[in-house]
Amino acid sequence: MDLHGKAGDELLATGFTAENTRAATTSGSSGIPITIRNSERDLGYLRATYLQDMLSNGLRPTDRIAYFRVNPFLRHPLERFGVLRNFHIPTSRSLDEQVAAFLAARPTFLIGFPNVIRSVVDELRRRGVEHRGVRTVLFGGERLSPTARAHILDYFGAAHREVYASVEVFTIARTCPRGALHLRSADLVVEVEHEDGTVSVEDGEGDILITRLHSEAMPLIRYRLGDRVRIGPNDCPCGVARTPIVREVIGRSQDRIAGADGRRYYGDFITYAVQDFAEVSRMQLVQHRSGSVEVRVVLAHDARPGMTADIRDSVLRVAPDLEVTVLAVQEIAPEPNGKIKIVKVLDPSGDPAPPDVPPDKPMEKGAVADV
Ligand SMILES: [Zn+2]
Repeated sequence: MDLHGKAGDELLATGFTAENTRAATTSGSSGIPITIRNSERDLGYLRATYLQDMLSNGLRPTDRIAYFRVNPFLRHPLERFGVLRNFHIPTSRSLDEQVAAFLAARPTFLIGFPNVIRSVVDELRRRGVEHRGVRTVLFGGERLSPTARAHILDYFGAAHREVYASVEVFTIARTCPRGALHLRSADLVVEVEHEDGTVSVEDGEGDILITRLHSEAMPLIRYRLGDRVRIGPNDCPCGVARTPIVREVIGRSQDRIAGADGRRYYGDFITYAVQDFAEVSRMQLVQHRSGSVEVRVVLAHDARPGMTADIRDSVLRVAPDLEVTVLAVQEIAPEPNGKIKIVKVLDPSGDPAPPDVPPDKPMEKGAVADV
């Protein structure tokens, strides 16, 4: 069933209504809003899950936590006793306001999308502000180039931690002390649908399907999140978690590049050809029409001349059939939800391209598969 554009109320479990649940809206995997409804118990579970994300990623009671978010986070009751103090960095406000909120908060633990944390770090650097005291940066959301991640962590001298989570299914995986992204197998059933249509549990590469086990108001079964992932068996020596490991979140499955001959494919191999250049701090692949790709890059200030030509050559080596343009830009605009789409496919009218779903596979992104 496709949830796009529906209130979703028909998916509520018996006894739950729009009145006794609270709505959470997500952009979904294709940028079209989807509304999920949670009961009070669901929200309690959500808060406990997020607290566990932070505790298992090294949060201490005395930490001052900065959330880089559009909306303020729900306050934890313990805050009034001076523990787990939260500070909201309003990412929908101007950069000056974000920086002011950050400096006033003097946080020790940061949580947010990499690109918004990056913007604040860049501005602090530009102003010559040296900021110490941040121990941990917990990244969620979109993928970040290794250079950009190092840039943030170097600035703070902080440890890197990560959660893989979504509004619809909460936390899917979180890093252990060794940095491996372990699945939360006790709380979710994670299946991977491969290119040939076969499905395996917690293993291999393909589209991720999620069933949350502790969902009360709106249980979603085999929810198609829209991410393509690579999952492998646990070989981590941490001893803290023994579950399989998410090796890579390869990307939103609808963001496929179209070749001039109509073929569609995942653009990730192209992004690697770009992000392998250390001078690239941000990037975006934009496709305006089939057979062409525009590579937008934000380059380091000391990038040598001719950099864009080298990036173009590198992309052409992996994608010789594409017409490639490389643009050095000052910034890359995030989507309305604050995330940057790494691979963005537009049709000539400027709308997102429809998902490429073969007729024999009627399941849609952000949809619940038949069971
Ligand atoms: Zn581990």
